[in-house]
Amino acid sequence: MRVGIIGGGAAGLAAAYELTKQGHYAEVFEAAPFLGGQASTFEVGGGQLERGYHHLFVSDTAMTELIHELGLGDQLAWLESKVGFYHSGRIWDFATPMDLLRFKPLTLLQRLRLGLWTFALQKTRNWQKFEGVTAQDWLTRHLGAETYRTIWEPMLRGKFGEYYDQISMTWLWGKIYLRVASREKGLQKERLGYPMGSFGEVFDRLGERIVQQGGAVHISARVNRVAVDDDGAATGLEVQLAGQDAEVREYDAVIATTPSYVFTRLVSDLPPDYLDKLVNVRYLAAVLIILTLDRPLSPKYWLNIADRSLPFVGLIEHTNMIDPALYGGRHIVYLTNYTARESDLYQKNDAELLEDFIPHLQKINPEFDRSWIREYYHHKVDGAQPIIGVNYSQRIPDHRTPIRNLYLANTTQIYPEDRGTNYSVRMGRQVAEMVVRDGVGG
Ligand SMILES: Cc1cc2nc3c(=O)[nH]c(=O)nc-3n(C[C@H](O)[C@H](O)[C@H](O)COP(=O)(O)OP(=O)(O)OC[C@H]3O[C@@H](n4cnc5c(N)ncnc54)[C@H](O)[C@@H]3O)c2cc1C
Repeated sequence: MRVGIIGGGAAGLAAAYELTKQGHYAEVFEAAPFLGGQASTFEVGGGQLERGYHHLFVSDTAMTELIHELGLGDQLAWLESKVGFYHSGRIWDFATPMDLLRFKPLTLLQRLRLGLWTFALQKTRNWQKFEGVTAQDWLTRHLGAETYRTIWEPMLRGKFGEYYDQISMTWLWGKIYLRVASREKGLQKERLGYPMGSFGEVFDRLGERIVQQGGAVHISARVNRVAVDDDGAATGLEVQLAGQDAEVREYDAVIATTPSYVFTRLVSDLPPDYLDKLVNVRYLAAVLIILTLDRPLSPKYWLNIADRSLPFVGLIEHTNMIDPALYGGRHIVYLTNYTARESDLYQKNDAELLEDFIPHLQKINPEFDRSWIREYYHHKVDGAQPIIGVNYSQRIPDHRTPIRNLYLANTTQIYPEDRGTNYSVRMGRQVAEMVVRDGVGG
């Protein structure tokens, strides 16, 4: 079979890898001048750094297995995560059940209740029972309004901005249930995985492997549209390779891995039912400022900011997990927000964001001085987070689209887990299998 693939992120590359491994021809078109999509990297201090902070959980087995298959297993380090919670003007440890018990902003009773319910959620497999209820309603009912407002609301706002009160409890269940798998039994310490050559190295190696297996991978190669014949079957792609005229290439099947709002622009005449599912999903963009500092800022890798007077919701100090020597001795801090593309935050430029953020860094470390900053970078990742509302399972578009031979594999179809490289790799490989099965059958 000949398969055309739109997008060279985790899903598109995994699909092409699986297809070429099975002896089929796959050709990947990636619009950006690099592979990896949301998990792509850029150069900092001689090392490769993700545009948005990235790590793996122990439960991310599809990604871990792929890294081993690519011969990069010895690069994958499992490191102790240091998680903190910024609340009431100080950083609280927030990694283990003992930390929870010491979290003074809640009463002892509230902490015990929180601990018991968190434990219960970790042991619950049946996510369907949470489908019809928002996390806000469930948590308020079971943990009380104050615990919800202190712990969970800031976290939900951090991930979903103004949509925080519409998020399904199933989404939160997934976070809690899977996270426990990242803890060592007994010790209750969480380990996070990181490929020491960066996620960029994994995706570049994947691209090389696809080519070795007989496929093709193009960067700076935009797909303009999916060609569909009069019988309603996809026949190819109109592609625009760098410096060349647009041309149509023919395929037996096409897999699209773009966000849904991009997909609808590439395909005309989608039937209303399917189109509705695509247009009704909303996404948030990630807006990031990355600072490189000449010294550490905080003691934590991951700091949840539960204080709305700070203009960012997460502070991830990458070099509190990964050795700064990889980046020429620079200490790397991500300041992050998720927001709608129409928001003021999204529209602001790098200098404006920096000026907004800098005065607040002294709240994290009173000694902080702007002279510590060596460089700063600004990244925006569109289509970063689909909004997962109640009864989401009924609104997921099928991988097999109503256009014959056209398949969709994007992050809106990952459920009940939260989107992540692991699930895009798993989905990419599964959809490749589906294409092969359909091709054999037909
Ligand atoms: C800030 C941030 C932090 C994250 N942290 C983690 C983490 O710690 N761990 C983790 O596992 N995951 C993390 N993720 C999520 C993870 O990066 C994504 O879920 C995953 O990479 C998505 O892969 P994908 O291939 O499905 O989609 P994408 O990566 O979005 O790939 C789609 C690709 O399609 C391309 N494209 C779009 N239109 C066209 C076109 N017309 N022609 C050609 N190409 C096109 C895009 O350029 C893109 O490369 C994070 C994401 C963000 C934004």
